[in-house]
Amino acid sequence: MSDIQFSEHSRDESRFTGECTGVIMAKSAKDIAAALSLGEPFAVQGARTGITGACVPDSCKALDLSGFAGASGMREENGEFAVAVRPGTLLSDLRTMLAKRSFDTQGWDEASLAALESFKNAGEFMFAPDPTEDTASIGGMFATNAGGPASLLYGRTGDNTAALDIRLANGELWHVERGEYAFDEGGCCKLPNGKTLRVSFPESAPLLNPLQPRAGTDLIDLFSGSEGMLGVAEQIWLKLIPKPAVRWSVVFFPNSIECATEFIDGLLSAKEGWECSLTALEYLDGNSLSLFSEFRENQTRLASIPEFHEGAKCAIIAELCASCEDVAEAALGEMLELFAEAGGDEDATWAADTEDEIEKFRQLRHAVPEAVNSTIDKYRVDCPTLTKLAADICRKGVPLCELIPGLTEKLESTGIDYALFAHAGEGHFHVNLIPKDAGEYARGADFLFGLTADTAKRGGMIISENGVGKLKRGLVAGLLPKEQLELMREIKRFFDPSCLLNPNNMFELPL
Ligand SMILES: Cc1cc2nc3c(=O)[nH]c(=O)nc-3n(C[C@H](O)[C@H](O)[C@H](O)COP(=O)(O)OP(=O)(O)OC[C@H]3O[C@@H](n4cnc5c(N)ncnc54)[C@H](O)[C@@H]3O)c2cc1C
Repeated sequence: MSDIQFSEHSRDESRFTGECTGVIMAKSAKDIAAALSLGEPFAVQGARTGITGACVPDSCKALDLSGFAGASGMREENGEFAVAVRPGTLLSDLRTMLAKRSFDTQGWDEASLAALESFKNAGEFMFAPDPTEDTASIGGMFATNAGGPASLLYGRTGDNTAALDIRLANGELWHVERGEYAFDEGGCCKLPNGKTLRVSFPESAPLLNPLQPRAGTDLIDLFSGSEGMLGVAEQIWLKLIPKPAVRWSVVFFPNSIECATEFIDGLLSAKEGWECSLTALEYLDGNSLSLFSEFRENQTRLASIPEFHEGAKCAIIAELCASCEDVAEAALGEMLELFAEAGGDEDATWAADTEDEIEKFRQLRHAVPEAVNSTIDKYRVDCPTLTKLAADICRKGVPLCELIPGLTEKLESTGIDYALFAHAGEGHFHVNLIPKDAGEYARGADFLFGLTADTAKRGGMIISENGVGKLKRGLVAGLLPKEQLELMREIKRFFDPSCLLNPNNMFELPL
């Protein structure tokens, strides 16, 4: 079949394009097992919203899981619920099921049906991780350990996974409960098939999360973020948590970067004494705001978001949850005081306390990376080899007043268009360059390599979200200490010695 037939399966949202030699549509666990029994390599695909080319086939077939979707069961333990979903289930569909408490229960066992009955009579529940890309699949979210703004309070997809059914390259199906299997001090992890995985832990602190277990790492957390290189997740048991009684979202428009960073740093200290919690604290730089303004012109779904305040040099989105309105109000008052102390204007803020209004601010945040990706598409017309060019680095615990001004200055010096946004509460930066041509792309890639190397030198994480995929293999090869790279290879060799699953993700073959 021609390439054109597989064009959709040859790329993801990063615009990285590979060679797809065929597509296997899986609608059941049996289909996945059958695909593996062929003994031929394939790239596992959820919804292809990934932004590092991780699901893009590298001269192999694609295993498309989009048709293997829906909830497959529920359980309750001491008032805590978990829902089991098939890997192709979209985040948006999961949310609808939970909001309406309506599930297609065909094939559910008695225990699941009983849990559903009590779920319907309990309060409102949610699945907390939110990469904001609603069309992502749960399988893909698990395999990339997707985070997003709300991971500040709730953690990532892996943290919110109670159990997992995973099909290994050799065809074995493992059921893994959280807390059942973990690495001990000596690097050993007992496995569901009775065998033991033994690895040598590097002495150095991990520079990234995927395939970097240390003493205490749960087996679920080894699979989460492994980008489909160790097995295919067939069923994921997701922890559900009670919806907070009160949820508010506030957008601040600082008139300078200094005002923004002083405010964020102050807020991060102040929140420790609060009765309520910050669920998200996001930073969008001035370029992000400009890109959004351009992008929204053709997007009717964004029309209800108001125009930004005049003089806004950037934006900060703070979301909080509380047990009652009084507690939220006290926190809001403190936030406004801190903003004023940092030189901000109380009138240059928006606040939302209804689901619809909060959703608007969430859409604003999400539209920024969308705008970056769509601008890349514009330049791809003349230069089709352009892809997303971004660093996702983390300097947890370092005051933002030390990081953001310096980072902004460095980005300005490249002369390349850019957008800087961040999960500011976690010191986690998405540094996006937007090159117009191949020359800028090459220069930009060199710049990001240098920036990431510097992050490593200062003890930060070099890839802290979105994974490695194919686009960031160079960072792994060039910056990871040898012992950490060898650990990744050792684990891959153990689970998939013939490299059937996602060949050439994270590092190039041969193993
Ligand atoms: C505009 C935009 C904003 C985004 N913002 C964020 C963000 O804030 N935070 C964040 O974390 N991500 C973000 N993402 C990235 C993206 O949404 C996530 O990577 C998502 O989790 C991938 O899901 P998917 O179904 O599209 O997976 P795919 O892209 O199809 O696959 C991603 C990886 O998962 C593997 N995989 C998929 N399904 C399975 C399975 N069942 N078993 C084993 N491996 C599997 C694939 O092989 C591949 O390695 C954003 C993306 C976009 C486009």
